[in-house]
Amino acid sequence: MPIFYECQRCTACCRWPGQVRLTEVEVDRIAEYKSLKVNDFVERYTRLRPDRKGLTLIERGDGACIFLEGGDCGIQAVKPKQCREFPNGWNFPGFEAVCRAVAHEVTDEEYARRTGWEAGRQEGGGRGVPG
Ligand code: SF4
Repeated sequence: MPIFYECQRCTACCRWPGQVRLTEVEVDRIAEYKSLKVNDFVERYTRLRPDRKGLTLIERGDGACIFLEGGDCGIQAVKPKQCREFPNGWNFPGFEAVCRAVAHEVTDEEYARRTGWEAGRQEGGGRGVPG
């Protein structure tokens, strides 16, 4: 039976060092949500990734995501896919030590209903993954 991790909105993943990779569509969507021109958004809230293959959100001085506001995501309605899919779509060994998501054993059908994808899918991660 697949395991579905139910996010408790603890924001631990928003505080880890690493990257929040952005697609072009996500850049456009977040800029619109913030009522900014795309160029202004890019200049103010993003930087080039170390691999120079795209943009990532910048961090605050303490390493947390620039959009973390208290105990919530300031762009929750349009947050990047990478954020939405952790920890079911991607994670890393030992993530349970810092993430408070509650693990549920579910049927394949329930897993697909909750995530929108087939059981067993796993992608490479982002925030919390160095570089
Ligand atoms: S965009 Fe939102 S969910 Fe993603 S790391 Fe930043 S604060 Fe967290």
